[in-house]
Parts: sequence; C-alpha cells; structure tokens
Amino acid sequence: MLIVRNDIIPFDGFDAITIWPFVFVRYENFDEEDENHEGIHGRQQLEMLIVGIVLAVVLGISGCGWWSLFTLPIFFYWYLVEWAIRKVFCSGNAYRKTAFEAEAYDHQDDMDYLKNRPMFAWIKYL
Ligand SMILES: [Zn+2]
Repeated sequence: MLIVRNDIIPFDGFDAITIWPFVFVRYENFDEEDENHEGIHGRQQLEMLIVGIVLAVVLGISGCGWWSLFTLPIFFYWYLVEWAIRKVFCSGNAYRKTAFEAEAYDHQDDMDYLKNRPMFAWIKYL
C-alpha cells in the first residue's frame, strides 16, 4: 500500500481513505494500527476488484460494451448501499457496522491478520 499524506483527501473530518493501492492520509498521528486497518480495506478492495473484473468481462461478452466497466468499483457501491441500509434499518453506528469496517476494526490490532486472512473474510460480518 502506498501512503499519500496530504491535506485534501479524504474530506475534512475523515482521517484516511483507502483507494487501492493508495492510502490517502490526512491524519497527523497515523500509526501502525491505522495502517493495518487501511491494509485490510486494501485487501477487501482487491477482492472486490476481481469480482468487478469478472462481472465486466461477463457483461462485456453479453454485449454491454464499455458500460460494463462501471462494475469495477463494486467495493464502493457495496459499501455505500450497505451503509445506507444499516443507517435506515438498524440502530447504532451504521459506519462501524458495515461488514468492511467491522472486519477492519475487529482485526486492526492484529499485525499478522493479513498474512492469515481468508479471502472474502468480510462476508461473515454481513
Ligand atoms: Zn475503515
């Protein structure tokens, strides 16, 4: 993961955002645990990018043309839809309860987690 320290991305009020392979950091005290948290998001995004590529190929073969490329950022669509559903229908902090965040917060203090993490481990947090 390539860490990009700056004052623009993410928006004010957020500390860091991962857009694989980059981690944009606005937060002064970005530490090893934060890096591990964002690394888990990086792995999740990579998995979902593979899903998006498979969908793009299937849709492309099916005649959808360049529109099929809209499947590539499927991680972000899933994140936003799950957050919105949890915001409307569930109590508590919708952000922390999304499967991607729940996995990242659960394992951010385990520095060996990414070495042993099963693929699509976030699914069990749905
Ligand atoms: Zn996170």
